[in-house]
Amino acid sequence: MEKGKKQIVMSGIRPTGFLHLGNYFGALRNYVRMQDEYECYFMVADLHSLTTHPDTKELKGHVHRVLAENIASGLDPDKAALFCQSHVRETSELYLYLNMLAYKGELEKTPTFKDKVRLQPDNVNAGLLTYPVLMAADILLHRAALVPVGKDQEQHLEIARTYANRFNHRYGDVFPEPQAFNFGQALVKVPSLDGAGKMSKSENQNATLYLADSDDLIRKKVMKAKTDSGPTEPNSVKPDYIENIFLLMNLVSEKDVIEKFESDFNNCVIRYGDMKKQLAEDMVKFIAPIREKAESIRTDEKYLKEVMEKGAEKARKSANATMEKVREHMGLVY
Ligand code: ADP
Repeated sequence: MEKGKKQIVMSGIRPTGFLHLGNYFGALRNYVRMQDEYECYFMVADLHSLTTHPDTKELKGHVHRVLAENIASGLDPDKAALFCQSHVRETSELYLYLNMLAYKGELEKTPTFKDKVRLQPDNVNAGLLTYPVLMAADILLHRAALVPVGKDQEQHLEIARTYANRFNHRYGDVFPEPQAFNFGQALVKVPSLDGAGKMSKSENQNATLYLADSDDLIRKKVMKAKTDSGPTEPNSVKPDYIENIFLLMNLVSEKDVIEKFESDFNNCVIRYGDMKKQLAEDMVKFIAPIREKAESIRTDEKYLKEVMEKGAEKARKSANATMEKVREHMGLVY
């Protein structure tokens, strides 16, 4: 890396619904922490959403929501480039070139592709198959070194590294190897409240806490989380669904509160009803200010348009510089 030059960071969130705690702790929290020290590109991944959500009636509203929830979570559009994927047309050009380096067999083996085929057997489109190629294009377009994502994206990052290396090997060094990033720890997976999978925009909605949920809905969802009658042996191993409640508490509660419940569990005196009440109140305290702030930003279309325009301008500048190098290295300059 050149001395004094900031490392480049890139990531994105699909506008397919309401943002949730998984998006917050897997992605947004890192975005906010990184914006001061790194050159950041964060996008609303509208093109990716077309692979699973071809109906675009609600797309505009969702794009606005994702932007507003990013900003309400602390992202500053004057520091990071916050933009919409489809506003940077160079993405499509790099996606095309990378498709020539991507093999059908390896794409078919991607676990996320197999999952999606199961979920939408009537719409197994080529975009779904080449989703990791588009994701690699998003990242490599800015020659990003770090990609803040949740654990579910680890394999896609591995694929992006493969394409970067394949390109460099064939045409000469243009791309750094992008790494998945989380501040100082392993990548995060926020579990759903029913313990059956992860929090998600479109699945598991009753067991997912959204940044737009009302105080009462948050309380209701948390109180419904699965528990049991408590451990009978001191210092027992926690069942998965109890481990998940502790994990959620670790995200939003004070240290001494967590320690109290840990100790109650280890001494077999834990009252899960009290624990969930505490967790619900701490969740409300955490989510309510973000929800309220996002609501006022979301309805200010003029401001959001300005944010997107400014972000796209920065992103296009970085994309153009990369694409000049790409075309030159590929021998496409005549
Ligand atoms: P979703 O799966 O909710 O549709 P996206 O695919 O748009 O979310 O992912 C946006 C970001 O949020 C990615 O970095 C992804 O890794 C992260 N993310 C999504 N769900 C979770 C979760 N339950 N725990 C941790 N990170 C998550």
